[in-house]
Amino acid sequence: MVLQVEKDIYEAKTQEIAKQLLSTTGENRSLFSALRDQMRPDDKLLAWAMSNPGLRVQLFRFIDTLPALRSNSEIAAHLQEYLGDDSVELPSALKGMLNFANPDSMPGQVAATTVSKGVETLAHRYIAGENIKQALKSIERLRKEKMAFTVDLLGEAVITEVEAESYLQRYMELMSQLAAAAKSWKTVTLIDEADGEALPKVQVSVKLTAFYSQFDPLDDKGSEEKVTSHIRTLLRRAYELGVAIHFDMEQYIYKDLTFNILKKLLMEEEFKQRTDIGMTIQAYLRDSEADAKSLIEWAKQRGNPITIRLVKGAYWDQETITAEQKHWQQPVYNDKAATDINFEKITQLLLENHQYIYAAIGSHNIRSQARAIAIAQSLNVPQRNFEMQVLYGMGDKIARALVEQGYRVRVYCPYGELLPGMAYLIRRLLENTANSSFIRQNMENRPVEELISPPVLADKEEISSPPIFLLPCC
Ligand SMILES: Cc1cc2nc3c(=O)[nH]c(=O)nc-3n(C[C@H](O)[C@H](O)[C@H](O)COP(=O)(O)OP(=O)(O)OC[C@H]3O[C@@H](n4cnc5c(N)ncnc54)[C@H](O)[C@@H]3O)c2cc1C
Repeated sequence: MVLQVEKDIYEAKTQEIAKQLLSTTGENRSLFSALRDQMRPDDKLLAWAMSNPGLRVQLFRFIDTLPALRSNSEIAAHLQEYLGDDSVELPSALKGMLNFANPDSMPGQVAATTVSKGVETLAHRYIAGENIKQALKSIERLRKEKMAFTVDLLGEAVITEVEAESYLQRYMELMSQLAAAAKSWKTVTLIDEADGEALPKVQVSVKLTAFYSQFDPLDDKGSEEKVTSHIRTLLRRAYELGVAIHFDMEQYIYKDLTFNILKKLLMEEEFKQRTDIGMTIQAYLRDSEADAKSLIEWAKQRGNPITIRLVKGAYWDQETITAEQKHWQQPVYNDKAATDINFEKITQLLLENHQYIYAAIGSHNIRSQARAIAIAQSLNVPQRNFEMQVLYGMGDKIARALVEQGYRVRVYCPYGELLPGMAYLIRRLLENTANSSFIRQNMENRPVEELISPPVLADKEEISSPPIFLLPCC
């Protein structure tokens, strides 16, 4: 049954909720000003990246190589090579720092230490820990703030079967440790229960490309066979431990294969009853509305809901460049407003079908979140069937405001070593420093009304900010 509610009713409510959220924080000041102030002194690197596009490209390329560099001299040499290019206009502080004669000199060593410390600090902001112990500490801190979590083990697109096996084993280990720790956690009603039902306290997020080194749509049968066998092992163990599993979505080329594998597997008798499993839809994809409709139809046939996490999508630069290089049609929208409009459309679709699927709305954009809340309230969506999600380190203030308003918020917590985590870190940096990003526009003192106004398409769908980067994960 699809409910029809006037769009205007949602819009008025969206504005009201967005303003309400912006005026709420636990810190005795508005979320609006708290968000602007969250740029801390150690955000120098981000400020530099935002100061000019040429520097942004070179800085992120340098950061991407950093974990592979073995000494301060190597770091200093690469710093000069990447950032010393005449075409890059440097802020005076950075120019002064790079003004050393050779990488082994004292000023070279100082520059290397300063910059690598800065990147480390930045990485720790977005990564919940380098090992399980640190990740557990972060998770327990979140639970104290009444926030649920999903843990992601950093690493993707493995290139050998040894790595794929190790990824599975590390997830098995991670689930056991989290489930053991969860035994001593006190129940937090807001996140551990909904409508009288107990929810899993532990959730992990996984990527299919990490389960098979040759995961490739050109060999759909072979990929399915290998990946399915690993997922069965994972799902069986998760069931024994009471752990929920969420499947992330990666690059466009893997999308159909990922949906096909999961839809087929979750129809198997052994897994058909499970409601503690989720899949992800990326609203920047032109196919995504059709995919959402097809998933809803599938869920109706299955008879037991799964969660659908709706995000805008993390690979925009990469998808745009890959398609351009290969003369393919762009799979993603080229206008940010088109993605935002589609996100709102799919949000509505998911919430209107809440009896068949659980909706998880993943965004750091107050307008997008307020819209979801407005629809959920208008349709009286039960608490169990709707939650908000944010990334660790990206949406802390927004998450607190949502918790204060009584919503279940889940924080996506990646953990692991920096080298396999580099692709993840670069995606977050690209996201935070893009001209079109909500977080950046918020920091640039745009008026509240502008930030929360309905997205409007440009006359002609154009690329609003040029893609700059091919991510190192493929
Ligand atoms: C809990 C959680 C889980 C996540 N899991 C996944 C996942 O499995 N797979 C995945 O891909 N991402 C995932 N993400 C990342 C997510 O895609 C980004 O964080 C999100 O796109 C940022 O959008 P926003 O609404 O927060 O910010 P906004 O600033 O409102 O939107 C930024 C987004 O708009 C889109 N965009 C930017 N420029 C353009 C343009 N010119 N044209 C069209 N669209 C544009 C991009 O998707 C960009 O990320 C997850 C995020 C969360 C919170």
